[in-house]
Amino acid sequence: MPELPEVEALAGYLRQRAVGRRVDRLEIAAISALKTYEPAPTAVAGRAVVDASRHGKFLDVLFEGDLHLVVHLARAGWLHYREAFPATTPLRPGKGPIALRVRLDDGSGFDLTEAGTQKKLAAYLVTDVAAVPGVAKLGPDALAADLPAFAERLRSRRGQVKGVLTDQSVLSGVGNAYSDEILHAAKLSPFAITDRLTDAQMATLHAATRQVLGDAVERSLGQRAAELKGEKRSGLKVHARTGLPCPVCGDTVREVSFADSSLQYCPTCQTGGKPLADRRLSRLVR
Ligand SMILES: [Zn+2]
Repeated sequence: MPELPEVEALAGYLRQRAVGRRVDRLEIAAISALKTYEPAPTAVAGRAVVDASRHGKFLDVLFEGDLHLVVHLARAGWLHYREAFPATTPLRPGKGPIALRVRLDDGSGFDLTEAGTQKKLAAYLVTDVAAVPGVAKLGPDALAADLPAFAERLRSRRGQVKGVLTDQSVLSGVGNAYSDEILHAAKLSPFAITDRLTDAQMATLHAATRQVLGDAVERSLGQRAAELKGEKRSGLKVHARTGLPCPVCGDTVREVSFADSSLQYCPTCQTGGKPLADRRLSRLVR
């Protein structure tokens, strides 16, 4: 799932490549992806791209006249920039990975795609970004929050730090992958309880958040949009690395189920060498 660094990089790529270009047309191939009816997609035609930015994990493409295309890429969504499209014929609604296509006046443009059969990508055409339900509920940006704000937000929600850190209403931008990386860098158990963290642990967690996200943004900004996913994988130390050695201490990275997914961690770095109990698994064994 694209998180803060990837969405930031996509916005950066659009700022370089699309800003200043005028929209030829916006085509909708997956009708269910567009969550708004008014303004109509035809309202985008003829407008220049003014800016591209990010709200948490939402991408925001601003067109002149204060019209925003706000997109949540969900688990398997992505943005593909095309220097040219193979055909000028409009997309036909139906099956396939392309949800939306924006054609620009120089023949280039971008597709918003979603792999797999679960279609969760959500796009909104709005004049006020706060009208997007997910955006209105976002907490402060995880990369922008200073230590007092960060600590206040995390302590406001009592729970396992892994879950609180990925709750977009607490802090926005961090998902499953980067929360594993942040907790590993902070040497904290993913199951540590937020309101029991000491001030020193909170300061370490804040520094780790900025470091991990900042490094990932830096790595991905230099990449072409098409290469961003691979770059994300190469920068990870524990996430999606079950069974591989921890690059810090050499212990084996382990996995435990969490919420509707799983998390990865290093026992030596994070839990005093003790593997975390997999509740789902122990329930089955019992
Ligand atoms: Zn380790």
